[in-house]
Amino acid sequence: MNNFTWIFLLAVFGGLLLELWLLGRQARSVRDHRNQVPATFAEKIPLQQHQKAASYTLANISLEGANLLFGVILLLAFTLGGGLNWLYGLWQAVPVSELWRGVGLLLSVLGLSTLLELPLNAWRTFVIEEKYGFNRTTLRRFLIDQLLQLMLMLAITTPLLASILWLMAQTGNGWWLWAWVVLTGFTLLLSWIYPLIIAPMFNKFSPLQDPALKKRLEKLLQRCGFHSKGMFVMDGSRRSSHGNAYFSGFGKSKRIVFFDTLLDGLEADEIEAVLAHELGHFKHRHVLKRMLYMATVSLLGLALLNWLMQQEWFFQGLGATTQSHAMALALFLLATPAFTTFVTPFFTAWSRKHEFEADSYAAQQSSAAALISGLVKLYRDNADTLTPDPLYSAFHHGHPPAAVRIAHLSSKLE
Ligand SMILES: [Zn+2]
Repeated sequence: MNNFTWIFLLAVFGGLLLELWLLGRQARSVRDHRNQVPATFAEKIPLQQHQKAASYTLANISLEGANLLFGVILLLAFTLGGGLNWLYGLWQAVPVSELWRGVGLLLSVLGLSTLLELPLNAWRTFVIEEKYGFNRTTLRRFLIDQLLQLMLMLAITTPLLASILWLMAQTGNGWWLWAWVVLTGFTLLLSWIYPLIIAPMFNKFSPLQDPALKKRLEKLLQRCGFHSKGMFVMDGSRRSSHGNAYFSGFGKSKRIVFFDTLLDGLEADEIEAVLAHELGHFKHRHVLKRMLYMATVSLLGLALLNWLMQQEWFFQGLGATTQSHAMALALFLLATPAFTTFVTPFFTAWSRKHEFEADSYAAQQSSAAALISGLVKLYRDNADTLTPDPLYSAFHHGHPPAAVRIAHLSSKLE
């Protein structure tokens, strides 16, 4: 224990109190507006649906509260509670090189966290999503998904961690620059292979069939000067009835993906407007900006880690009794999120700016009215609350609240 311990604890509990306070505000805002559909939506969303959205949001708030508390307990158990020291000791007895012991330590932390979070995930799927009629997955598929995700995580993180630990040991003071090059290259590779290899492990993707819709959407793509490797329908309905659309990959692997649930719920003009919104993200280079931002943040993060791992107080303050590279990396990965809670509103504001830009683009290239009616249906069918607390929303909703977004779109109507 030292001064840094107190700073760390202050950040952890300050962050926890802030998050719980925001959750409380959100719960109050939803509960207080439960018995009246906001005027903008009164014609399109029946009171019964609105109340279902309120109950669903409240159930998720309870789960989120449990999640936060659990996260703090886990964090303290790993750090000040001596969990990392214990795992480190276990790996010291394994007859492999220091590098692989380090990889083992980091993978144990990741694996244990995933395993311990399993009950909360199961609760979300089989209690909350089930109760509100969204769940379509079975226990068998859920367990297979979890196992597949765990194996995928091992397959992806093992080579990455091994190369970073190798660089830390072999390249001296400049290791973090090399590590950044590896990390950035790795991220690019992942986003390139994600639509081609990873996503198909979990879902089926079939080319969009409906000829009339396809023609309409292709016209839009042409109008917007967009080239993609095709439009695909994903069988999202296998797991959940929530609907969505997204873009993935880049360069030659770039593709447009619609959840089958989205296509079932919306009319052709609404689907076109939703696609135009996604194209807006592309036209404004939001994905690229986000990637550049992440690359900058990871460069700064690695430079910070390089400095921290040379400070004895960093290890001692977080309860570590050894000062290996792997230990530094584990402490850094575990402790950093406690300090970043406080900057989330800035990132959220940036993300909202992008959403407004994409909405404006959709209004220009397609139709604001169609996007509004499509959005209302999506909010209704996903049981998203229409009455969030503004402060909670400023922290957590990268997409502006329904009413704000629709007001912005309405201003684009002639
Ligand atoms: Zn968007």
